[in-house]
Amino acid sequence: MSDEFAQPINARTRYCAVFGHPIKHSASPAMQNAGIAGLGLNWRYLAFDVRPEDLRSTLLGAKAMQFVGLNLTVPHKLLALEMVDALDESAKNWGAVNTVRFEGRDKHGTWLPLHLFEDAPPEKIRSQGFNTDADAITRSLNEDLKIELAGTRVLVLGAGGAGRVAALKLAAENVGELFLVNRTASKAGSVAAEIRRRHLNVKVQLGYPRGEVDLAINATSLGLAPDDPLPFDGKQFSLRQAHAVYDMIYRPAETPFLRAAKASGSRVANGLGMLLYQGAKALEIWSGQPAPIEIMRAALKQNVYGI
Ligand code: NAP
Repeated sequence: MSDEFAQPINARTRYCAVFGHPIKHSASPAMQNAGIAGLGLNWRYLAFDVRPEDLRSTLLGAKAMQFVGLNLTVPHKLLALEMVDALDESAKNWGAVNTVRFEGRDKHGTWLPLHLFEDAPPEKIRSQGFNTDADAITRSLNEDLKIELAGTRVLVLGAGGAGRVAALKLAAENVGELFLVNRTASKAGSVAAEIRRRHLNVKVQLGYPRGEVDLAINATSLGLAPDDPLPFDGKQFSLRQAHAVYDMIYRPAETPFLRAAKASGSRVANGLGMLLYQGAKALEIWSGQPAPIEIMRAALKQNVYGI
């Protein structure tokens, strides 16, 4: 959807934004502004390069300026846990905030999305933190790879922010067996310990699987740069062992990991769906309306791949 469908900016226009550092690569403004136009809202979505040491003051600034909401990306998702006024269950559950909704208190004491207070701003405003990343991972796996996760054997490569949430969410979806591998082994160990504590029915092991897995996920940053090596140890694991392969990286569209997996006969998908579904859910949290998924997907593809 092009800008011609967007409502003109005027004094009633409300704002959302993404805060990150760096931020110039972000495809979120293209995707969200298309979604906003698709819903016919007089909103705009902006991007700001916010340094971690400025996160607290910029969150307060957005609240004071009565923004609708925010997305937070690297490196803010953990920092924000301590900085928002309230945490939704999703943020508590996954231990990270990627979406903030500003809310106003009405005369009955109920907190409502701030954009509903169109004419008179409420006396009290708060920020509430949500997490839409975890659900987006499994939605993308379900829809893009047609995987039913319950009972499956899954290898997760990487135990940074995205790898941790993916492993925890997969455990919550009752996968049968999880194999965790990370360059810094202690981080995979902490994720495994957290899963053992929270999901007694899931078998979780550190290291590569023997035999076949239903799914292998790359949640490392290896593949972002053209000269990166593959994100696993070829002496310990072969892509022929994986029925399906998911790379959280979406730029480039086909990483060497996905290319090799395709050549081995695995079903493959990249992380564009994950980006799309976390953004769509954020727009739903802000607007209270179903997000126009196909409009947002088209805008994302146009922005990221030029198609
Ligand atoms: P992060 O917290 O910085 O974690 C980076 C991960 O990559 C860690 O597991 C790290 O291992 C590993 N890694 C980095 N350089 C490595 C190297 N040279 N050799 C081996 N492992 C290496 O980042 P993140 O937020 O989890 O993001 C991870 C990946 O997911 C990135 O590629 C990012 O683009 C992608 N992602 C995609 C989406 C989406 O919407 N599709 C969303 C979030 C993230 P150590 O722990 O040893 O450092």
